[in-house]
Amino acid sequence: MNLPEPHEGAHEAAVVAGVSVAPGERKRIELPAGSLATGGKLTLPIEVLHGVRPGPRVWLSAAIHGDELNGVEVVRKVLGEVTPGRLAGTLLAIPIVNVQGFIIESRYLPDRRDLNRSFPGSSRGSMASRLAHLFMREVVAGCHLGIDLHTGSDGRTNLPQIRADLSDPETARLARAFGAPALIHASLRDGSLRAAATARGGRVLVFEGGEAHRFERHVIDSGFAGVLRVIQAMEMRKSAPPPPSEIPIESSSTAWIRAGRSGLARIHVDPGDRVAKGDRIGVIRDAFGDRTLPIKTNRSGVIIGLTRQPNVNRGDALVHVATPVEDAAPEKDQAGGSENGGIARGRGRSEPNRMEEVQE
Ligand SMILES: [Zn+2]
Repeated sequence: MNLPEPHEGAHEAAVVAGVSVAPGERKRIELPAGSLATGGKLTLPIEVLHGVRPGPRVWLSAAIHGDELNGVEVVRKVLGEVTPGRLAGTLLAIPIVNVQGFIIESRYLPDRRDLNRSFPGSSRGSMASRLAHLFMREVVAGCHLGIDLHTGSDGRTNLPQIRADLSDPETARLARAFGAPALIHASLRDGSLRAAATARGGRVLVFEGGEAHRFERHVIDSGFAGVLRVIQAMEMRKSAPPPPSEIPIESSSTAWIRAGRSGLARIHVDPGDRVAKGDRIGVIRDAFGDRTLPIKTNRSGVIIGLTRQPNVNRGDALVHVATPVEDAAPEKDQAGGSENGGIARGRGRSEPNRMEEVQE
């Protein structure tokens, strides 16, 4: 994808999905996305804010997983704050990408496919594949940056965090500008929007915060402020909330503490807490209070996610720990050069993330 230089050329109307949006104009586009079994039309609503001055083109998306609602509210708040009359460049806001999943409060599409494993998609593929293809063609193409908003899944909650390719200096700069409590250098997931958009030459920040099916004020506030800070960092807008007072943690090494036994788990830590290797952070018991097994950490770091469901099976992911970059070297030495050096004794096992447990 050859992107135009953000600040070159005369300032003209923006064309999105074949619709022209004049400088200073804000327009809702109902992008045709197929037809419903009832005979009606399915559309993907996009709000386009085309600034009065030239600048980059940015997309802001939420609810690619239809039950992840915090991001939907973030988009609404951003649309209430940003006006095209004070904007350089173009903002495409898509608060609900997975329209059909959203209606039935499901992470998936009605065909049980995960949209964020279906990118870049195909015009002749499954329902998920066609929607992914449409989104790539009409939204992602031509955008310099995308911000994709998610929450935890499967009964898990996440510390508000940015997941991005921090090896790219400009992506890292924008990720830091966001100012979320945690910044995770995350490898690309096959089929994800982030992977597909990156392959086409754009940059993507994935925001993860809170849990599905909820509006959580601290998460929404973090996402809202972060999006505005990134837009300012791209010189699209002059004002933004001040940087957060707490210094975010940065990590390229995360792992789940797993259940050493089936039972009922009580977890005594919260997202954002710091833990040391060997800390007792919870307990698993059976329903009678017998057969107690402590949950212990086998690495030091910050809690970036945890399960909210007490009913666990042996091996289930319980608590997600990120080792900050500044702590990573000594941690590795203690573990004898292996990221999993600490698991031998079994309690509070951890291992590198498997794909299905990373919500993005
Ligand atoms: Zn998601």
